[in-house]
Amino acid sequence: MAISQLPFFREEPVGAATVAAALATTFIITSMSASGSECIIVGGGPAGLTAAIYLARFRRRLLLIDSGASRASLIPETHNHPAFLGISGRDLLARLREQSLRYGAILRTGHVSDIRHGRAGFEVVTDLGSIVAPTVLLATGLTDTRPDIPGLVEAERRSLVRYCPICDGFEVTDKRIGVLGPMANAMAKAKFLKTFSREVCVIALDQSSEASAETIAVIAEPTRITACDAEVAVECRVAGQRTFDRIYVAAGCAVN
Ligand SMILES: Cc1cc2nc3c(=O)[nH]c(=O)nc-3n(C[C@H](O)[C@H](O)[C@H](O)COP(=O)(O)OP(=O)(O)OC[C@H]3O[C@@H](n4cnc5c(N)ncnc54)[C@H](O)[C@@H]3O)c2cc1C
Repeated sequence: MAISQLPFFREEPVGAATVAAALATTFIITSMSASGSECIIVGGGPAGLTAAIYLARFRRRLLLIDSGASRASLIPETHNHPAFLGISGRDLLARLREQSLRYGAILRTGHVSDIRHGRAGFEVVTDLGSIVAPTVLLATGLTDTRPDIPGLVEAERRSLVRYCPICDGFEVTDKRIGVLGPMANAMAKAKFLKTFSREVCVIALDQSSEASAETIAVIAEPTRITACDAEVAVECRVAGQRTFDRIYVAAGCAVN
């Protein structure tokens, strides 16, 4: 179950006063070398690690638990991170981890399966055991929805299929761009991508009956994606085959 679906998250939001009242009662239920954590951070991507750096420098005792599937680890090289002309997601994560450790953060690999709120604070249930702390910071990120189309995973592996034009739209300036997803999502992303290239085409997963008022081409019902060298071909039931330099997926996401 995603952390965002846990009952306490939906039904029993805990006020700041409750959290503050529990501050003195931090303890570890089962052994984990992080006795007396004031905060448990769930998630060790850029958000969780940034929080760890700040809290550690505020001289708070914190334990970060991460299951090791940061979306950032999928970034071959980012060019929009201020102060870096280019850095891979893995290098960025390594630097963040090193910086947080320097100030005393405790980082552990593990999966959090439940969080319960009680008198003593939050009980965080992990595959390493249960831990209680007065505060929990959730930085569990999200998971992109990947349409189930043959060939998509391979094209993604070769970086021909991307997800975030805010991150790397600049790199496809004046290229042939396909935007894959349900019509409404894909059209919205396609409009943004039009600011990078005139050659943008929606690859609609659903066959929309509504005529598009936009000047953006539409093909529909993709059946296969084939990556070849630096380009990617898409076969569609409606409107045949088209070739693109890059495809962006616009199929939504699930909050972890
Ligand atoms: C292919 C790709 C390229 C990208 N390129 C760029 C780019 O160039 N520039 C840019 O700014 N952004 C880019 N992004 C987006 C960037 O990766 C995300 O914005 C960033 O990783 C979000 O950080 P986060 O810490 O919120 O979440 P994440 O990095 O996803 O970290 C969440 C962490 O929480 C952990 N977690 C989740 N649930 C649990 C649980 N129950 N128990 C324990 N741990 C848990 C996960 O394992 C994960 O390590 C890209 C993303 C992708 C997929």
